[in-house]
Amino acid sequence: MRVFKFGGASVKDAGGVKNVIEVLRKVGSDNTLIVVSAMGKMTNAFERVIDVYLNDKLNLQDEIENVKTFHRNVLLELFESSQHAVFGAISELFEELDVFFKTNKSPDYSFVYDQVIGYGELLSTAIISFYLNEKGFKNNWLDVRACVKTDNYYRGANVDWEATQELVSKSIDPDTLYITQGFLGSDKNNFTTTLGREGSDYTAAIFAYCLNAESVTIWKDVPGVLNGDPRIFENTQLLHAISYTEAIELAFYGASVIHPKTLQPLQQKEIPLYVKSFLNPEDPGTTVNKAKGISPKIPCFILKQNQVLLSLSTLDFSYVVEENISEIFNLLASHKMKVDVIQNSAISFSVCFDDAYNNLEKLLLHLKAKFKVTCHQDVSLYTIRHYDDLSIKALEKDKIVLLKQLFQETIQIVTK
Ligand code: ADP
Ligand code: ASP
Ligand code: MG
Repeated sequence: MRVFKFGGASVKDAGGVKNVIEVLRKVGSDNTLIVVSAMGKMTNAFERVIDVYLNDKLNLQDEIENVKTFHRNVLLELFESSQHAVFGAISELFEELDVFFKTNKSPDYSFVYDQVIGYGELLSTAIISFYLNEKGFKNNWLDVRACVKTDNYYRGANVDWEATQELVSKSIDPDTLYITQGFLGSDKNNFTTTLGREGSDYTAAIFAYCLNAESVTIWKDVPGVLNGDPRIFENTQLLHAISYTEAIELAFYGASVIHPKTLQPLQQKEIPLYVKSFLNPEDPGTTVNKAKGISPKIPCFILKQNQVLLSLSTLDFSYVVEENISEIFNLLASHKMKVDVIQNSAISFSVCFDDAYNNLEKLLLHLKAKFKVTCHQDVSLYTIRHYDDLSIKALEKDKIVLLKQLFQETIQIVTK
């Protein structure tokens, strides 16, 4: 089987849904399982719904109405008659969501988040499944939660591979075209879980792994993996081929074109990953496979914004040693900081991290009791893989460099 993933950008509106048909016409739809994300920016819109539900109930109906209107407009563009069964199916999903809001007793943000956010994917896949059926691409709509089982670490659930393997093997007929949701799973009690933002690529890899798929293709608004995000860097170039290891490195450092967890399951079974343009589906794009290295071998740029850089030294100017470092790491872990770079010298320890859960104030309170702390907020972390002098110079131009670290083929630079 082949696994395809269409992300939010590829199905951002009715035109995007129509284009899915164009892609399938050009590349075929036999023996294919299609993983789809929420349309356009709908996941962000559902995040606002969740926020007002928990904090500002008076605005809940308005926020829900936004999402409803968006999907209703898409339906009106795709289906001629408002009597079409798809309208009922979409209304049912909104009714289900309404029941959740009326009956939920949990104040837990992460739990509520996972029960609500997935409606983006449930809606997009319902629309696409009906539309493909209408256009002659007979398909089965699959509720991914019946296949992907996870623990209950809401908003970043871990896959139960054994249970998932069993369910996928049992539920999927390789001769059928499937449309299913990315990003979602379910826990032991069948509550919805999510794999983390942008997790739909990972869903594609999970299915590919369990199905021993022949390939995974992710359809993007870019020609493939470039040597930098074209929204940020100028004159980016297409990478034709990269190894799994290289792609893992790029994703690890923050190249947001592939979700970092996607590659390992594919590498284990040597399933090739193609990153291709949904506008030019017949172009070769980028191939990620077991071949070595990267082609062409050019510097690759990655930027992580809004990072925090802390420099710590002991209050009595003693060395920063194992005990201090382990204490610092315990605090970073317990405050859910995602550490990007560390550097230590005799009397100071620097760490650059992402405060994804807004815990900086609390962390500083603990650290300041034990250390002298210098804190730079809102710094940028640049990574260059396969750097050369020219690429470093170009990057550092007009910036204040706060920290720099070299490691084999990688340089990391924190700037203000
Ligand atoms: P999806 O619709 O699959 O969610 P995303 O918007 O998450 O797609 O990913 C596509 C975007 O990733 C591109 O528009 C591009 O701006 C960005 N991007 C970041 N790094 C890279 C890179 N190295 N190569 C190509 N695109 C990149
Ligand atoms: N819809 C989810 C998100 O925007 C998952 C994904 O698109 O991969 O994060
Ligand atoms: Mg995305």
